[in-house]
Amino acid sequence: MQKGTIGVTTTNIFPVIKKFLYSDHEIFLRELVSNAVDATQKLKTLAAAGEFNGNTEGLSVRVALDKEAGTLTVSDNGIGMTAEEVDKYINQIAFSGAEEFLNKYKDNASAIIGHFGLGFYSAFMVAKKVEIRTLSYKEGAKAVCWTCDGSPEFEMGDCDKVERGTDIVVYIDDEEKEFLEQGRIATLLGKYCKFLPVPVVFGKEQEWKDGKYVDTDKDKVINDIEPLWARKPADLKDEDYIKFYHAIQPAMEDPLFWIHLNVDYPFTLTGILYFPKIKNNLDIRKDRIQLYCNQVFVTDSVEGVVPDFLMLLQGVIDSPDIPLNVSRSYLQSDRNVKKISSYITKKVAARLEEIARNDPKAFEEKWNDIKIFIEYGMLSDEKFCDSAMKFALVENVDKKFFKLDDYKKLIEANQTDKDGNLVYLYATDKEAQYSHIKAATDKGYDVLLMDGQLDTPFIGMLEQKNEKSRFARVDADVIDNLIRKETDTQSQLGELEKTITTTLFKSQIPALDKADFMINFASLGESEQAVVITQSEYMRRMKEMAQFQPGMGFYGELPDSYNFTLNTSHQVVKKVVDSAVEALKDVVSPLDRQIAVLEGEIKVIRDSDKDNKGLPDDQKHEIADKEKQVKELRDKREDAITDYATGQDTVKQLIDIALLGNGLLKGAALDNFLRRSVDLLK
Ligand code: ADP
Repeated sequence: MQKGTIGVTTTNIFPVIKKFLYSDHEIFLRELVSNAVDATQKLKTLAAAGEFNGNTEGLSVRVALDKEAGTLTVSDNGIGMTAEEVDKYINQIAFSGAEEFLNKYKDNASAIIGHFGLGFYSAFMVAKKVEIRTLSYKEGAKAVCWTCDGSPEFEMGDCDKVERGTDIVVYIDDEEKEFLEQGRIATLLGKYCKFLPVPVVFGKEQEWKDGKYVDTDKDKVINDIEPLWARKPADLKDEDYIKFYHAIQPAMEDPLFWIHLNVDYPFTLTGILYFPKIKNNLDIRKDRIQLYCNQVFVTDSVEGVVPDFLMLLQGVIDSPDIPLNVSRSYLQSDRNVKKISSYITKKVAARLEEIARNDPKAFEEKWNDIKIFIEYGMLSDEKFCDSAMKFALVENVDKKFFKLDDYKKLIEANQTDKDGNLVYLYATDKEAQYSHIKAATDKGYDVLLMDGQLDTPFIGMLEQKNEKSRFARVDADVIDNLIRKETDTQSQLGELEKTITTTLFKSQIPALDKADFMINFASLGESEQAVVITQSEYMRRMKEMAQFQPGMGFYGELPDSYNFTLNTSHQVVKKVVDSAVEALKDVVSPLDRQIAVLEGEIKVIRDSDKDNKGLPDDQKHEIADKEKQVKELRDKREDAITDYATGQDTVKQLIDIALLGNGLLKGAALDNFLRRSVDLLK
């Protein structure tokens, strides 16, 4: 029996392992099973290199529990170790056997996991004692037994093992008894080992017999040794991808698309990413991509490895080139990881472009489901945005889809305004904005439907990318103002007519919560609507953006400001204006003259202070006095018009109809309108 001290630089590495190396004790199982898988893979590699002539059939790993003995054993029939190797690889743990092996069989040994550093020693996170019983594949090798109780001292000697391979017997610590539970181990194997490349046996298959489940004598293999991502895309059918998707993402609908990743250079990566069908908007979770390392599950938090916007996808990524067991911040700055991330982005963009090109119909059908991913990607990733410009679609109110370039060509001739700006018209609600959409389409313009969650920032992004182009919602102004052409829509009303009409209407607009109205005039044509209510694009967008950007909250609080545009070429409006001016001019004109005189006098006094030295007090008083008179005259003017307006049912009807058309007429105002409408029938 040989005794010795484990050759590490710190005298006692185990507290370090326990505390710092892995936060999750359960990981020891992944490590031991991975080592066992490694050992079998190495045997295959040796056989392929002609250095081992024995049988490589039936290579497998077994996990067994013995509750009475308090042990968990991981066994393999791989290469085993000689006494020298145990000494070298286990006793001198700084010396990683995997590394040496890899160097020797560089081209052939890619399937070796050896990636987890102090893998074997992680057993001490849960063990009070660990025993290795191993017999090397080498001819004439003697079986070796090694034990260690967690102190740096170990014992090593001969043992009676007759079959090639290694048993790692973990005497589970009293505080870690959960690792002796069948259910717990089954769960852990399901989590970490489900796709390992060598069969992993745990217990027996069961069958239903005499009213209960009983073990059969058939071994239960818990893993799928050739998961879909490790197979050649050419050998796979759509059904295979869909079936695999449901296996890793139960309770989801069929995926929309998938992308099979497969790269050998400059790093190795395989995987399958699925675009899920998201039913209602934010049923989105970000932990649905699993990261594997040579088929060993590592984590489902892939931040940094996968670009942020693709975290909405689901599936698996497998790469031996992603450093494991390191902190997230390190991961994000790792050059390999950055390359992987941009590779994935490129691949996803290329695949989408391919689908859009080869099957535009299918792409259009699925567009509304994938739009959120693509817009999110375009908004958050410059490179992806550049590629996506080629396949991203827009949809118009007639449900027709266009690529961005094609759409531009479609509207260019007709929707460029007199200053050379291309105006994209859009609606966010086909029903509510119906009359505005109609006004636009009647003019031969095309209107996009932009009702997606991310459409507001998306529109902003498109405006930035395309010079001399701008988006306008159809109800942002009367259509002739949205796309100004040479033709003049200026109203021909005179000043007196305008001021009277403004007060006439303003005084009769019912008070609405959080809404301001500005009265405007435009000559829109006899057959257009009499009154059009619009909402400024700028303010509305500011308010919408406020939802996306913290710190802009105050925009959300501002009242909605509407333009209330009177079509002065409309017969009814003309009549209302003419009668009002006729009825009021004898009262209003003298008041206006008096106001003009007073304002003229005020100006003269102000102008006398040429050098801005300040006026003497008596002149200041004089101004204040005259200003007061102006105000009184204005009030009088307003009262006179309001008085008149109160009796004008046509004015009220025009206002209410316009409000109604925009969904703004509610409560008492709506009730008044209905009553008045019936009264008018009398
Ligand atoms: P790593 O796997 O990163 O090299 P480990 O501490 O897990 O680190 O293992 C050290 C070495 O011990 C391995 O590289 C391997 O040579 C040897 N070893 C561990 N487990 C086994 C096993 N089940 N069969 C054969 N060799 C093993």
